[in-house]
Amino acid sequence: MSLSEISERIRAAEAQAERAPGSVRLVAVSKVQPEERVRAVLEAGHRIFGENRVQEAEARWTPFREEYPDVELHLVGPLQSNKVRRAVEFFDAIHTIDRERLARRIADAAEAVGRCPALFIQVNTGREPQKAGVDPDELADLLAACRGFGLRVEGLMCIPPIDEDAAPHFRLLAELAGREGLSGLSMGMSDDFETAIAAGATHVRVGSAIFGARPPQH
Ligand SMILES: *Cc1c(COP(=O)(O)O)cnc(C)c1O
Repeated sequence: MSLSEISERIRAAEAQAERAPGSVRLVAVSKVQPEERVRAVLEAGHRIFGENRVQEAEARWTPFREEYPDVELHLVGPLQSNKVRRAVEFFDAIHTIDRERLARRIADAAEAVGRCPALFIQVNTGREPQKAGVDPDELADLLAACRGFGLRVEGLMCIPPIDEDAAPHFRLLAELAGREGLSGLSMGMSDDFETAIAAGATHVRVGSAIFGARPPQH
């Protein structure tokens, strides 16, 4: 597949859901992809990318940003406390706030650095014990804590359980966002971004469908 094909499918899904053209933003998840594949997508004109690790993202995107200063970078992977300051300096959006301590550190770093990325709270919609994300029942408290720290939360993010129909998870996330008055919905990956758009996604995070299969990690 390719960037233009995915973009067309996004436009079609927007139309199908009677949503405004361009209301869904494509975050091209470039984690661990070979540099030439990422460069090809940059050369095709795309500017919004997602990475799941702070250090790898810095190594790859510091040089790319000199060539393409308008690139927008989204952190879609878990954020460790000791990397918060670098993440706040480097990323334009963080999709994975899932605990109060992390929110407090982000607020402190944003204050110190003088900038704050767009922020999403990750919700563990499947209540999977091993998975990151706040429990749906604890979302309201976490959101209140974020607001107490002076953070503006743009929306919610989820990664549905791998072996379940994603649609009910997307609908739950949309319902939670509506209840909390949040407009952003980061949901949908290569296999299910159209389903996510039908449920109201504002940001889809698509990796392998754009870049090809990720090389094996060790
Ligand atoms: C890797 C990753 C993606 C992209 O996954 P694909 O299946 O390759 O589209 C999206 N979101 C998160 C949080 C990821 O870690």
